Amino acid sequence: MFRKILIANRGEIACRVIRTARRLGIGSVAVYSEADRAARHVHLADEAYPIGPAPARESYLSIPRILDAARRSGAEAIHPGYGFLSENAEFAEACAAAGIAFIGPPVAAIRAMGSKSAAKSIMERSGVPLVPGYHGERQEMALLAEEAARIGYPVLIKASAGGGGKGMRVVEAAGDLEAAIEGAKREARASFGDDHVLIEKYLTRPRHIEIQVFADTQGNAVSLFERDCSIQRRHQKVIEEAPAPGLDEAQRRAMGEAAIAAARAVGYVGAGTVEFIAEDGRFFFMEMNTRLQVEHPVTEAITGQDLVEWQLRVAAGEPLPLRQEDLRIQGHAIEARIYAEDPSRDFLPSTGTLAHLRQPRESDGVRVDTGVRQGDAITPNYDPMIAKLIVHGEDRDAAAQRLAAALAEYEVVGVRTNLALLRALATHPAFLAADLDTGFIARHPEVLEGSAEPVPDTPAWAAAAWTVLREEARTAGAAARGSGDPFSPWATADAWRMNGAGYQDLLFEAGDERVLLRAALRRDGSLDLTLPGGNSAHVAAEETEDGLRLRLDGVQHRMAVARQGDMLTVLRGGLGVRLRVLDPLAPPESQAAGGDRVIAPIPARVTRVLVSPGDKVAKGTPLLVLEAMKMELTLSAPAGGVVESIRHGVDEMVEEGTQLVTFATETA
Ligand code: ADP
Ligand code: ADP
Ligand code: MG
Repeated sequence: MFRKILIANRGEIACRVIRTARRLGIGSVAVYSEADRAARHVHLADEAYPIGPAPARESYLSIPRILDAARRSGAEAIHPGYGFLSENAEFAEACAAAGIAFIGPPVAAIRAMGSKSAAKSIMERSGVPLVPGYHGERQEMALLAEEAARIGYPVLIKASAGGGGKGMRVVEAAGDLEAAIEGAKREARASFGDDHVLIEKYLTRPRHIEIQVFADTQGNAVSLFERDCSIQRRHQKVIEEAPAPGLDEAQRRAMGEAAIAAARAVGYVGAGTVEFIAEDGRFFFMEMNTRLQVEHPVTEAITGQDLVEWQLRVAAGEPLPLRQEDLRIQGHAIEARIYAEDPSRDFLPSTGTLAHLRQPRESDGVRVDTGVRQGDAITPNYDPMIAKLIVHGEDRDAAAQRLAAALAEYEVVGVRTNLALLRALATHPAFLAADLDTGFIARHPEVLEGSAEPVPDTPAWAAAAWTVLREEARTAGAAARGSGDPFSPWATADAWRMNGAGYQDLLFEAGDERVLLRAALRRDGSLDLTLPGGNSAHVAAEETEDGLRLRLDGVQHRMAVARQGDMLTVLRGGLGVRLRVLDPLAPPESQAAGGDRVIAPIPARVTRVLVSPGDKVAKGTPLLVLEAMKMELTLSAPAGGVVESIRHGVDEMVEEGTQLVTFATETA
């Protein structure tokens, strides 16, 4: 076995490979781009080497830089993960030339399967069923049109060199063919440097079912059964499961044998996936992915095997750990891919900093493969998949229930994610009934709506108020400690600080509304909170690793609060409500309009007017007092100047946004 391997990848898959290496006592070497200096995979590895700037072309796709890191580290083998260089024959060749083992199939097998067209020709010769289509060399438009007509519309145009759903076009009618082919060719040239296309019959309600195969250098090959990856968006997988619901033993055996025949036809060694498209009880070869697949963990869950360990053993020349007859399916597993993307905007990738990240607790039936930690940035440089949640249960119902429960625990603040979509899918009656096909999301568009952002309720207000006051006390404590006066009352630190009045007002903006809360602080650190509408509640809380344990009138709630600038996200059960923190005493210019106006932050009644026109006031001078929801709110001068006019008198009701005072600011 190898003593040290390099992982030529990033994110969750790099972390995943490192985990197995560590378990087997194999040293792990990470590589990282400038954007990934502080990434989780770098942190987990035994050693890590910089390989260049953020763009993948200059780092994770740079063969010389990766080989240089391998040489410097003394790694004996390279695991390419998925994506990047994993299916790049030149890379596998360059590894061999450098005397480093490539943890993947032989160069010839990568080449044979690299073109979907060439792969289909090979499969045809080995008797593996194909979708009716055209996968020849010739590319003249007239010929392609003739072939499309022969196949029958709708047809699907695919880039032969394609992957990741790129370069695909569905064509409904002959009139649209030419434009679609030109578009697919353009995209294929840009993405893969090769504009060769093939045409397939477009199946309208198919399932994507794929077989995990493994072969060793001694001529053994097995199937580790199938995965159903029919829940897709933009022809890319979102939820995968194993085994495929409803597949009977005979079909399973037939697909397994076809997949093994496909692998043998190209002299395959290592982990590979043969993808089929299935409809009406028939299945057809689509392509073979000559690498470890994103969704391999569901196969690991149902077989009890570690596929990365298998890859390492095979690459080191060992035979497959098990024979076909030793492999069994145990229970049912489902994987959900967590993407930083916005399903409501056509799955546009989302970037930002993970201000808050809480992942479900791992247990026997719950596994989280992640590449990120709280505080990490999701940049536009790489794939938006940030983690995978894998659940396992004794049957599909048990697995689905675990999936829904674990998704409810997932909390991400800072980027848009597909979590609401995943939750909607995991609990959808059609999903639970295993009524699966690749058009699932399009046919059930309600899953895209997710759940509307919840309205803040009492626990949310309580958590927000407690957090804001807690932070203020901390800041004050830190300032006092920094002042070097250990006898300062602030230096006794963690206790709540009062403003002398025995209460503190807190102003929040939720959606279009402003809400004022009043907190009276008790000596024990708890608070009596007056809520919108005048009800009050007693709030105590404790910060734990797990978030905020809030006690509201004695009832405990598990919450979490994430802060980004003046925006708080209060989370419960995976759902977040966003509240902007406003300073009730601050000059309103920062909250609303320009610097020379004083505006009512919420609907209120004027109770006192403290200045008259012509008065000279300093910045911060109280101008008038409002009352709203039985609370007082003092508005002060946003800047030094002379009061020009007071627009509303005592006892007048004013709407939010009403201008109350104007004054001429001093020119400095
Ligand atoms: P899987 O089939 O293992 O589920 P995907 O097709 O979702 O994998 O791709 C896995 C990752 O690799 C994704 O990040 C995808 O964008 C990327 N990827 C896959 N094939 C290619 C390719 N040929 N070129 C570029 N990126 C690819
Ligand atoms: P990629 O290399 O991008 O993974 P695939 O050939 O594997 O491309 O196809 C990706 C997805 O597109 C499939 O999982 C399936 O949902 C859909 N698809 C592919 N071929 C067909 C077809 N002939 N009819 C209908 N859908 C298809
Ligand atoms: Mg595919």
